Amino acid sequence: MTLDKTLLYEGKAKKIYSISGKPDLYIQEFKDDATAFNGLKKDKISNKGVMNTEITTLIFNYLISNSIPTHFVEKISENEMIVKKVDIIKVEVVCRNIAAGSLVKKFGFKEGLVLENPIVEYYLKSDELGDPLFTEGHIFALGLATAEEMEFIKSLTLKINGLLKKYFLDRKIKLVDFKLEFGKDTQGNIILADEISPDTCRFWDSETNEKMDKDRFRFDLGKVEDAYLEIKNRLSK
Ligand code: UDP
Repeated sequence: MTLDKTLLYEGKAKKIYSISGKPDLYIQEFKDDATAFNGLKKDKISNKGVMNTEITTLIFNYLISNSIPTHFVEKISENEMIVKKVDIIKVEVVCRNIAAGSLVKKFGFKEGLVLENPIVEYYLKSDELGDPLFTEGHIFALGLATAEEMEFIKSLTLKINGLLKKYFLDRKIKLVDFKLEFGKDTQGNIILADEISPDTCRFWDSETNEKMDKDRFRFDLGKVEDAYLEIKNRLSK
């Protein structure tokens, strides 16, 4: 497919293009660049763009087949997909099933503690401010979303969590935690956007608890590409 595209935005892991003649669609391109610790650690993970494109495609197709509204339209090359144009809501939604990462660092949870109920957290999407944890009160006061919209986002997040937990466990993967972003499409509907990949989730092997996600990059655990590839292979089966 040859599409006339114009770069609109380049982020840490993806590029977004507009498409000439298609005002309601964007192209989302996945890069090999990896960052951690608010951009302090930077490198490339070879083949990450290709692997995350395929992983996100498989997961979004699964969610769409379970009636979750998403921006995904179709994969058009090994590292690009067409998505619906959305205005991203500047709230990063994190959902946690098992304690790890900042839950351990900031709140003293023991890593690996299985949470009785999932914890949903909100972070302000702002590189300059370092994505601080914030509350619905802050979200309303900043005018980022209304109470009704946040209720919808939270219930959709919990529904996605239930679907993904089962999907991954069937593939011998524990879904420890993950980050979602939502956007408003040109009709004003709130839909799931961005990506779902080892960059944005914590995945542990269900038998060995081996880390199979970006923590291997964050903490120099080695075999980063192998972990992403193993996730892709388990989801492709
Ligand atoms: N996460 C993300 N983008 C961010 C921050 C977090 O995708 O800007 C994901 C992260 O990969 C993990 C989950 O959200 O799966 C929870 O991350 P946590 O709060 O533990 O923070 P981090 O480990 O990034 O310090």
